[in-house]
Amino acid sequence: MQEIVIVVGAGTMGAGIACVAARAGYIVEIVEPDAAARERGRARIERDASRGGDAASVLARIRWSDAVPERSEAAIAIEAVPERLELKRAVFAQLARALDPQALLATNTSSLAVAEIASGVPAPDRVVGLHFFNPPVAMKLVEIVEIEQTSDDALAAARAFVARLEKTAVVTADTPGFIVNRVARPFYLQAMRALDRGVASVEELDALARGAGFRMGPFELMDMIGLDVNLATSESVYERVGAARLEPQAMQRALVEQGRLGRKSGIGFYDYANGDPERLELVPEGPSEEKIDECVTVIGFGAAADALVEELEARYADVRRVENDELLDEISPETTIAIDVGDGVSDRAEILAELDTLLAPEAIVACDAYATDLAAATRKMKHPDRVVGYGVLGALASQRVVEIVDFEKSSDDALAVAQELFEALGKGVVLVEDVPGLFLGRVVGAIVNEAVIAVQENVATPDDIDLAMRLGVNYPIGPLAWGREIGGARIAQILRRVAKDDGDAFAPHRALWVLDADDGEDADEPIDVPMERPVL
Ligand code: NAD
Repeated sequence: MQEIVIVVGAGTMGAGIACVAARAGYIVEIVEPDAAARERGRARIERDASRGGDAASVLARIRWSDAVPERSEAAIAIEAVPERLELKRAVFAQLARALDPQALLATNTSSLAVAEIASGVPAPDRVVGLHFFNPPVAMKLVEIVEIEQTSDDALAAARAFVARLEKTAVVTADTPGFIVNRVARPFYLQAMRALDRGVASVEELDALARGAGFRMGPFELMDMIGLDVNLATSESVYERVGAARLEPQAMQRALVEQGRLGRKSGIGFYDYANGDPERLELVPEGPSEEKIDECVTVIGFGAAADALVEELEARYADVRRVENDELLDEISPETTIAIDVGDGVSDRAEILAELDTLLAPEAIVACDAYATDLAAATRKMKHPDRVVGYGVLGALASQRVVEIVDFEKSSDDALAVAQELFEALGKGVVLVEDVPGLFLGRVVGAIVNEAVIAVQENVATPDDIDLAMRLGVNYPIGPLAWGREIGGARIAQILRRVAKDDGDAFAPHRALWVLDADDGEDADEPIDVPMERPVL
């Protein structure tokens, strides 16, 4: 006997889920009371199924009705009706009456508490959330939401169902935004904070995000999602979590009030009146054949400095290294460009001051602007105009665009030299304002921090969080793995600086250190987060 799945609601999600389930061999009964919505749903399924080349077999397995049946043999029911608690509760009550008590009862809610939808349902041990992503036919991820009462059998049935649909399941607690909509919040919110602070233009910030590996920048993505839809998600997560770091931005509210909703309204952060706006692609000119005639000295230890030296050696005639701050006075007086990579964690004011006394007056000093406060560091320097700040977050190789600080004291020459240097290494360059965390430090740092908080709050396992963010929103790497690559202590330093400016709500979580705890072979093991460890 073929198993039956009931899908309630044939909108964007219901129709997609029905198509996927029918494709996997289930008999699908779609409940949709609205005749016009039924037609739209049918057309959507036909279109999706014919794209998959299996229209006939998919459609043959689908039945339509306008109400939940009195009795059903279905093994699984998924509701995908509009996001209204009372409506979902009513639908769950009907399904609970119709189905066998062993049948799985699932909701596709994005923002409501699954437990609240299930309250009042007899035998809530069979309830789960099955949070599909839009469009369900294409998106590989399903978040299985476990409520307190969910039985092991129900969880196993949910996993088996998702696997049969050839999707990837992650398991999440019944917390606001589950994994993806929660951990992704800082991508949008911090990007808007950066825009608000005038860090760079929308186009430049999007280019920086793409350069760091995101498939789309935050602004073009919000335009695609719809600013109203994105704002509603932020509001719902914020209302339920109640943490100031997740507060929606006034800028976005204002745009929504003006009807600037993104692509669908023709204007959002970008203007679509004349078709797709051109993307800012920051591709440096091809490197010259000849090596650049400068003496570059890299100060720093560890992998970041090693990688930089290797890249520089291919482009510059004379590359040297100072591996230890203690050996700083051995720096070659011929140095024309000093790059202070440091340890990635400490503010390097003292080292910069020392370099200022050791180097020829015309030498340029480039430093890590994520860790170091440029204004404070240059205050007592004799030649502050030689200092230029840059941002390389983690591995140099994984960042195609680098932010260089348009610091008020940096000379034009220093800025030009730094720009030429990163372009020679094949990187695009964006000049940004001197705001703590710049853009990528602030955004990526806050995402990693949110992921660490999610681990702390037992939202999901570290592995599931990473998997969910890669599959659900196409992050180039899971946020916890990314955090390990950048370093927990480095992110903590960046966020401490951000918090000094933006407030304590943006301070690093004290558990960030765990990202550095497993540096060796166990780096992929789930993070065990003992609460009593020292505050960073
Ligand atoms: P939608 O408005 O496109 O579809 C909802 C459908 O439910 C409509 O066709 C409506 O006629 C039908 N409906 C209304 N009352 C009904 C009832 N009593 N019985 C049966 N059908 C009824 O909405 P959607 O975008 O598909 O969202 C559905 C659910 O999925 C919501 O909970 C939403 O939060 C969630 N979700 C949406 C997305 C997304 O990107 N759209 C992604 C993930 C989850």
